[in-house]
Amino acid sequence: MERKQAMAKHRFKTEVSQLLDLIIHSLYSHQEIFLRELVSNASDALDKLRYLTLTDEDFKGVPFTPRVDISFDSESNPKTLTVADSGIGMSADELRDNLGTIARSGTRRFLDAMQKDAKEGAPGDANLIGQFGVGFYSSFMVADRVEVLSLRAGEEQAQRWVSSGRGSYEIAPAERTGAGTTVTLQLNEAGAEFASRWQIESLVKKYSNHIPYPIHLHYTETKDNKTEPRSEQINAASALWKRPKSELSDSDYFEFYRSLSHEDEDPLHYVHTHAEGTREYTTLFFVPKKAPPDLYYADYRPGVKLYVKRVFITDDDKELLPTWLRFVRGVIDSEDLPLNVSRELLQKNRLLTSIRTASVKKLLSEFEGLTNNPELYTSFVTEFGRPLKEGLYQDFANRETLLELVRFRTTAHDGLTSLKEYVGRMQSEQKAVYYITGERGANLRHSPLLEMYRKQDLEVLLMDDEIDAFVIPTIGKYQEHELKSVNRSDTADDLKTDVSQERARKIEPLLKRIKEVLGDQVKEVKASARLSDSPSCIVADENDPTVSMQHVLRALGQEADQFRPVLEINPEHPIVAKLEALPENGAEDGLLEDASRLLLEQALLIEGAQIADPVAFAARLNRSLERALP
Ligand code: ADP
Ligand code: MG
Repeated sequence: MERKQAMAKHRFKTEVSQLLDLIIHSLYSHQEIFLRELVSNASDALDKLRYLTLTDEDFKGVPFTPRVDISFDSESNPKTLTVADSGIGMSADELRDNLGTIARSGTRRFLDAMQKDAKEGAPGDANLIGQFGVGFYSSFMVADRVEVLSLRAGEEQAQRWVSSGRGSYEIAPAERTGAGTTVTLQLNEAGAEFASRWQIESLVKKYSNHIPYPIHLHYTETKDNKTEPRSEQINAASALWKRPKSELSDSDYFEFYRSLSHEDEDPLHYVHTHAEGTREYTTLFFVPKKAPPDLYYADYRPGVKLYVKRVFITDDDKELLPTWLRFVRGVIDSEDLPLNVSRELLQKNRLLTSIRTASVKKLLSEFEGLTNNPELYTSFVTEFGRPLKEGLYQDFANRETLLELVRFRTTAHDGLTSLKEYVGRMQSEQKAVYYITGERGANLRHSPLLEMYRKQDLEVLLMDDEIDAFVIPTIGKYQEHELKSVNRSDTADDLKTDVSQERARKIEPLLKRIKEVLGDQVKEVKASARLSDSPSCIVADENDPTVSMQHVLRALGQEADQFRPVLEINPEHPIVAKLEALPENGAEDGLLEDASRLLLEQALLIEGAQIADPVAFAARLNRSLERALP
């Protein structure tokens, strides 16, 4: 008898252990998604094998009879549930790499997010598991022991991977007829309910109906005291996107979306296109209701899958749509691309480029359509306004359209406004579209920079998205109107100033003295035309980065140059009048020096900038209080 290789015991990589710990101990909601994840892996494995049999000489002879088989035993103790596929399978090494380690770099973040939820006592959302690409482990929510029996296509020896999810797993040679993978769960207390025909059938319909391969459910039926095994296909198994639109209902699309996106929620919108003529292709795109959790990370998972004549090619191509559309989920299926198109060359493929261009146009016109439903559109831009703004500077060809789609907060009212609406409200002799940038959450509405604009009833757009400070200046103009930042010194030249030239000239000696005190900390000290109630404010000189830009530069790890703002002083302010009245030698007891520094420091704080020496600032403030108190 042939001696089998000894069983090998392995320890999970630390991150896997932590992940499993979290899954076992803190995920109580959405446990049912384990089945969606197992079926989705089976379907991926079938996709991979089909692709190889069509494109790789070594696999041309391998039979491809795609199916997924689900069975259960509700009599055994513990109850069991099994999902088997005839897909690509895994070798011993692949079992170790795919199920014992986590290659994806987002895992750390996922763990942090989950750990945070758990600490705060919030129920962890199991849906995140699938979206972060660690779906297999969701099995451990419902099972005490998971066994994966697998034979890699083209190999002789099958392997069995077994684990209870606690620290370690074992791999040993085993028997399996035909390539593929069989996952068997020994259900725990929480999972016992899933060993039921009704449960499995309804979950498959809910999450996996449009997996393009047949899913068979095996069960037994007792009739006249005889127990008969039966099996039944329980999914539609169609490439849904290939079916005519007239045959499909919203709920068909929504079901498909759930299996595609690993999400529970319905999408916000979908668009299905069959293109015919010189280029034949189908696209089905979904806009999610909520931004995917990895939207703002460089290693985000692309949301669009590429098929050629229904054969899955890749779901890992970030170029299928431009990056600013990375929140879109969906499918592109081309009739004309060669099946064995190399994944590396995809990006240069002209067919694909033209599909991409047409898809972007299509999506943009769909977004325009959404604007007809203001409530829906508000929730769309609340989630995806930022990627749209990225599009403003990445996608020059579509800038005009995107400018109509972006929305901003405004001093005119509470909600969001479009640029078009702003222009409609402009005063007849208004010189530009004004905006102010600042930190997220900062109360821009109350910035001293806006005082004179408010007085003169000039509307200002409030931009507190960190991307705004960079993107908006690149726009330049909307229609024929220049976009001007009120954070910049020259913008105030447009204002009808209340301050007489004479008054401004009169405080020049004071400004000079203030500048002497502040030295290199400021670029210039000048009389302000924009202030009404506040004594001072800071702005950026023409070509200098504004405070918000500095924040972004620093977040990007770039050392921003020492920020030298322009300090503006309000000539009409009582403090200024009193400072002016100080005798030339009033600087003696440090009064002018304290005042000069405080005028700068308060303006910096209001702008969300750092002050160099908070301790000295507090000392100055206290000295002034002491002087002022009776
Ligand atoms: P994802 O599917 O997002 O990559 P999972 O945690 O669901 O993450 O699965 C991890 C990996 O394990 C898969 O990428 C795949 O390589 C492998 N795998 C899981 N199930 C199967 C299966 N039934 N057949 C072949 N490989 C599988
Ligand atoms: Mg998976």
